Amino acid sequence: MRRKLIAGNWKMNNDLDDSLALVEELKSLSGKFDKDADVLICPAFVNLYHVKQSLSGFDIKVGAQNMHFEEVGAFTGEISPAMLKNIGVDYVIIGHSERRQYFNEVDETVNKKLKAAHIHGIIPIVCVGETLKQRESGIEKETVKNQIIKGFENVDGSEAVKTVIAYEPIWAIGTGRTASSRQANEMAYFIRNCLSEIYSSDISDKVIIQYGGSVKADNAKEILTQSDIDGALIGGASLKAEEFYKIINYAK
Ligand code: PEP
Repeated sequence: MRRKLIAGNWKMNNDLDDSLALVEELKSLSGKFDKDADVLICPAFVNLYHVKQSLSGFDIKVGAQNMHFEEVGAFTGEISPAMLKNIGVDYVIIGHSERRQYFNEVDETVNKKLKAAHIHGIIPIVCVGETLKQRESGIEKETVKNQIIKGFENVDGSEAVKTVIAYEPIWAIGTGRTASSRQANEMAYFIRNCLSEIYSSDISDKVIIQYGGSVKADNAKEILTQSDIDGALIGGASLKAEEFYKIINYAK
C-alpha cells in the first residue's frame, strides 16, 4: 500500500520571516493532518536550516528544490547533497520543469542528481512532463517515457523503488489549468508501466507517483483519489497554510 505524499514547492517565495511564519501556521494545523499522508515542504535553500530546526518534533518533512550532483569542489553557487544531508534535508526535487526551462537542466543531469541523492540517503522527487505542444502533437507519452528512461539510466532497482516521480505537465504548472484526473491518472499508470519494463512490477507497484500542476483544495480530491496517483507536488497553493492543509486532508 503506497502512502500519499503531499509536497509543497515554495519556489523562490518567502524570505526567512515569511517562511518561519508559514511553518508556525502549519505546525498549529499539523495535529489535524491526515495520518495516511506524508507531508513535505520545500523552502528556498537559505531558509532550509531554520525551517528544519523549527520543525523539530513535528512530522513535516523538509526538502530542497534542487542540488548539484558533485560531492564538493569549485562549483560556485552550487549546493552539494552532503550539505543538504548535514542539515537534515529529507527530500530533493530534481529536474523541475522550471529548472529544465531556465537553467538548462537535462535528463543527463537529472540522472546524476538522482544517483547522488540516493548515495546520501536523500529521497529524490524526479519531475517529468510534456509541453503543451508535445501533448497537442500526441507525443506526450513518448516524451515522458524518454525522460524516465534517461533519468533512471543505470539506477539500481533498490534505488528506483525509493525514488518519487512527479508527473507535471508543463502546461498545467502555475497556469490554473489542471490536467483532467483521467489525463493525470493515465500518465501515472503509463509511468508505472515504464518502470515495470525497466525493473519489475514488484518495484513499479511501490513507487510513489505524484501529480503536479495547479492542484488546489477544490480539485485535490478528484485528482488524489485516482488509482495510480499517490500524492501531489504543489506550487502556488502550498504558500497558504489553510489551502495546503485542505489538500493534505482532501479525503475528509
Ligand atoms: C510546481 O511548481 O511544481 C507546481 C505544480 O506549481 P503549481 O501548483 O503552482 O501549478
